[in-house]
Amino acid sequence: MLNVNFFTFNAFEENTYIITNEKKQCWIIDPGMYQEDEKQAVYSYISDKQLQPQAIINTHAHLDHIFGVKSLMDKYGIPFSLHEQEQEVLKMARGSAVMFGFEFGDIPTPTSFIKEGTTLQLGDDTLQVFLTPGHSPGSLSFYYPKGNWVISGDVLFSGSIGRTDLPGGNLNTLLTSIRTHLFPLPAETIVLSGHGPATTIGEEKKHNPFLK
Ligand SMILES: [Zn+2]
Repeated sequence: MLNVNFFTFNAFEENTYIITNEKKQCWIIDPGMYQEDEKQAVYSYISDKQLQPQAIINTHAHLDHIFGVKSLMDKYGIPFSLHEQEQEVLKMARGSAVMFGFEFGDIPTPTSFIKEGTTLQLGDDTLQVFLTPGHSPGSLSFYYPKGNWVISGDVLFSGSIGRTDLPGGNLNTLLTSIRTHLFPLPAETIVLSGHGPATTIGEEKKHNPFLK
């Protein structure tokens, strides 16, 4: 059984998730650490719990979700994966950083790409991969049926949806992604979003104003 923990990092209040199995192997999903103390918080969490980081997995490549990727790759020598269609977004990261006034060193290079409709295996545990574009072209959601949760990146939020005005974004595509891949999940499925509090599929089906 996977355990999920999260931190909220950087000026965009981005949620960074760390998922861990019983063997203390872990993945870091969307590492958004920007300040040195944010990086140290993750390093301490990993060393205090004696975790063995295995990989960095990203829902998408917007700046606020990738600030911490390079430091984790360097520190732990672990791979970094996301959907192939996020490469364009990655390439724009430096420009976005300048625009928003952030310092950004080397843009991380993906080690491999994750395909939609496949599964990801952390030890004995399996995550299902959905391609849920609209906020960004290669946005992925990671569903863990056994634990009853889905990590949705910036696709679906509590009471809201991801913005669609950034390059590669499209409102209709986003709504279709949510209706096709997320809303069919069981109502009690916990949605772990890229920003803001957790919610459930049932709650969003009933009350999300963008999906009425
Ligand atoms: Zn985003």
